[in-house]
Amino acid sequence: MDLAGTLPPQLSAELVDVLEKHWGIRSLRQLQQPAIAAVLARRDSLVVLPTGGGKSLCYQAPALLSRGVTVVVSPLISLMKDQVDGLRSSGVNAVRLDSSLSLEERQFADRELRAGRVKLLFVSPERLMQSDFTMLLQDIGLNAIAIDEAHCISQWGHDFRPEYRQLKRLRDMFPGASLHAYTATATERVRKDILEQLDLINPEVLIGNFDRPNLTYRVVPRRGDQINQVLDVLSRHKSEGGIIYCISRNDVNTLAGQLNKAGVKAMAYHAGLSAIERSKTQDAFLEESCDVVVATVAFGMGIDRSNVRFVLHTGMPKSLEHYQQETGRAGRDGLGAECVLLSSGQDFFTWKGLMEKAARESQSESSHLDSSLGHLNDMWRYCRSSVCRHRSLVNYFGQEYLEEKCDACDHCLGETVMVPDADVIAQKIVSCVARVRGSYGIGYLVSILRGEKIAKIKERGHDQISTFGLLKQHDAFDIRDWMYQLIGHGALSQIEIETSFGKGMPVVRLNKESMVVLRGEKSYRLLQPLKAKKGGKGAVAAHRKDEDGWEGVDRDLFEELRSLRKTIADEIGMPPYIVFHDATLREFARSRPSSLEAMRQVPGVGDAKLRNFGAKFLAHISTSTKSGATVS
Ligand code: ADP
Repeated sequence: MDLAGTLPPQLSAELVDVLEKHWGIRSLRQLQQPAIAAVLARRDSLVVLPTGGGKSLCYQAPALLSRGVTVVVSPLISLMKDQVDGLRSSGVNAVRLDSSLSLEERQFADRELRAGRVKLLFVSPERLMQSDFTMLLQDIGLNAIAIDEAHCISQWGHDFRPEYRQLKRLRDMFPGASLHAYTATATERVRKDILEQLDLINPEVLIGNFDRPNLTYRVVPRRGDQINQVLDVLSRHKSEGGIIYCISRNDVNTLAGQLNKAGVKAMAYHAGLSAIERSKTQDAFLEESCDVVVATVAFGMGIDRSNVRFVLHTGMPKSLEHYQQETGRAGRDGLGAECVLLSSGQDFFTWKGLMEKAARESQSESSHLDSSLGHLNDMWRYCRSSVCRHRSLVNYFGQEYLEEKCDACDHCLGETVMVPDADVIAQKIVSCVARVRGSYGIGYLVSILRGEKIAKIKERGHDQISTFGLLKQHDAFDIRDWMYQLIGHGALSQIEIETSFGKGMPVVRLNKESMVVLRGEKSYRLLQPLKAKKGGKGAVAAHRKDEDGWEGVDRDLFEELRSLRKTIADEIGMPPYIVFHDATLREFARSRPSSLEAMRQVPGVGDAKLRNFGAKFLAHISTSTKSGATVS
């Protein structure tokens, strides 16, 4: 690792040593080097890196090389606990002080602190501001303060926490300590807010690349048989960890029930469940005794499981910020992971209705509603877009995407195709809307276009109009999806009308653009997923970018090592990833180290882990027979 130029040689050698000894890390990731250098130089900093980018190391490694304590402010007890457990298993003396500790644990932390043995102290913002605590820190000498999830300080962030506002006073309370803020939230406004709120002095501002190349993004039109679409995704991730997000609590309960019936062990999580039920689900997921969680967005922060191999959205989130945040929980270990979004234009109207209702109830300014609807529109445009998903996301967050092709999204993998004769199809759909004078919803229009002989159509004489049965050779879901695409392109409008029940009913209407389509003066591209060949593998199964990280790995051995890791984790009462990450286990199953020295060379194996777990893994590897089933 070459750190010359950023650090004095002595410090640079010590850093290399510390990284290897505690984390088994031999190379730094993007921006970790300047971020670490800033802490060591005691210069304030703001570091923006995507989830999984390795922000923690930026303050943890320098803490070991500095005198005094580094305080880490974190918003959730579960996050603090995970970090402290992880650090202690890597041989770092870290403690936390929060309301969940027993008296003995608190006394232990206090003793360790006063004896000057602690390098990293994790606290909640409320705790840090208490006067007795401040005095203690002033006594023992504070080196730096790291503020994790720093966007919580900003009202413009997606996770504002009022208690973070008190951190404004840190500068005055600890004038000798440097302040370092870390977040994955990329918007300019939030960044500016963090700098101002914390009063950072001449800060080093480091903003990373927001692309997550190890994630494969797919957007698939949601069909009526949604459960089959979900099972299809799950079939690609047998015994792997994943999160399924639903828009409503009801959807969560229904889907979790359906999955369990189908033999998939899935647990539910949403704000309507009791605290006990929620923590049961969360613990089971972290301990890997349950691999699939079906949840609302309430399930998120504090989920530090690094080997989440898929995130599936059964409905469209309300903004790309939310989407980025939720999909960001996949593949934190840097290995391949899949993010599938089942989208339907219906979601757009569900969200729109909810946003308008919330605005009416809170009587908030109309600009707030406009901004929410703007975010919603951006999200929907993303779903309907034929541009590379990585490019769209990176551009949305204000960065340039420099690759020509990502090889990790439905478009670049050739899983979506242009609908042939899209012009003619569009004209047929728009004509049908014109014939029924814009008074009906999508479902009914699809039935007319498919020529369905149902009572309502006959009663209204719509079986006699010229557009009846014009698209009868097509699947209802395809027509529905094309109609949503045309609405998305602005070639049709969907509006809500009042019915005798007083409820808003969405109907499809013509607009100015529709006339242009009817006259054949403008054409739109319509997309559809590549259909699987009869009897063949699905289009998706043919291209799995996430196979990449498996090259040369003996999968049977990997599974055996995973199960050994689970046994050890249960014995010591920690989540499995605290023992070793998946990437380390895969490397064991690839290179089959035959001695502790060889094992020590594997990334992720530091001295403490080698001492505590190395022999058990080595013994297993040496007795397991080589399987021919390696994946290349
Ligand atoms: P973030 O806080 O940015 O979401 P983390 O700090 O949790 O990310 O790091 C994500 C994962 O990457 C962790 O498993 C961590 O051990 C690993 N990691 C961090 N830096 C490196 C590195 N330089 N080399 C290898 N693994 C790393």
